[in-house]
Amino acid sequence: DLAARMKVKASEVIAKLMGLGVMATMNQVVDIETATLIATDFGYEVEQGITEEIGIQLLDAQEEGGETKMRPPVVTVMGHVDHGKTSILDAIRKTDVAEGEAGGITQHIGAYHVRSKAGDVTFVDTPGHAAFTEMRSRGAQITDLVILVVAADDGVMDQTKEAINHAQAAGVPILVAVNKIDKDNADPDRVKRELSDFGLIPEDWGGQTIYCETSAKKNVGIDELLENIQLMAEMLELQADASRKAKGRVVEAQLDKGRGAVATVLIQDGTLRNGDYFVVGQYSGKVRAMRDDKGRPIREAGPSAPIEVQGLSGVPLAGDEFIVVTDEKMAKNVSQARSMKVRETELAAGSKISLDKLFEKM
Ligand code: GDP
Ligand code: MG
Repeated sequence: DLAARMKVKASEVIAKLMGLGVMATMNQVVDIETATLIATDFGYEVEQGITEEIGIQLLDAQEEGGETKMRPPVVTVMGHVDHGKTSILDAIRKTDVAEGEAGGITQHIGAYHVRSKAGDVTFVDTPGHAAFTEMRSRGAQITDLVILVVAADDGVMDQTKEAINHAQAAGVPILVAVNKIDKDNADPDRVKRELSDFGLIPEDWGGQTIYCETSAKKNVGIDELLENIQLMAEMLELQADASRKAKGRVVEAQLDKGRGAVATVLIQDGTLRNGDYFVVGQYSGKVRAMRDDKGRPIREAGPSAPIEVQGLSGVPLAGDEFIVVTDEKMAKNVSQARSMKVRETELAAGSKISLDKLFEKM
């Protein structure tokens, strides 16, 4: 079934499975991670889980009987410099009902989770638009919606347009926060008019875009903004099954002197636990320790949780997929196969260059 779906020979899939150390026959039942990895190797992006995309039967017993539930939305705040992105995020963070227990522990990683009265939200703090573009070019969709911050006294500026382009190209819905409404020269209607030219027509003008008027400085409209985030999340029907093995995306990663390779991972489905084996990009590993966004040690993390993972064999790239696999052997085989492929590609690119050089000389 898998081979047919990918329009390749069954023998090729079997060969690939053997390469991963899985001895398979034609009618072998493969589990979901294996199928996902094989599909990835054949150049297929498995986005929504293998059931929809490749259509094979879900046969891994552990994966059956799971229950999908609403998961918190993952939000990115974008907009022109000085329009108030940081201020809005700070104002939102102050509403965090869990902030008390955290005792003022500051943000630790490039993504964080807020428990507001309206509901939970995960914010991804992309360091500038570049990271967003890079991730998107690598097919990594981590954001469910974008909050576009536009200052009411300044209107649509260059980076506002850039943000709209990125979000629209990625097909991510936009919620507009018209900020700085406390200012004397604030003109929210002008912002609405200007943004309408980009297809962001306000609801009260017959369009579909939600606008919230905020003053991050005076703490006005922040609760409404959070309520509207939840409203959009409900419309988007964001689902996840916490009983599955975890799958996620790398938000950022680096080499830490004491702890080795460390990655911030956004869990997109399932639950990640200490001791789980995983593949991430061309590396593998075992979860040696996890921390939440406030730097506190945790033992497990569910859908939409941003966490820091320790125990990677190398530093992956932002946007790399993080997949939990059954055991160490699988994790190592896949990462080996992948890094070999990367080297092959590099070699191919290298030999092309040397050929070009050769022709230059001739
Ligand atoms: P960012 O570059 O988009 O992250 O913008 P900041 O959050 O750093 O804000 C830029 C400047 O605008 C700062 O001086 C803020 O104090 C100010 N600012 C942010 N929000 C508001 C607001 O609602 N009203 C007013 N009057 N000033 C604001
Ligand atoms: Mg800022």
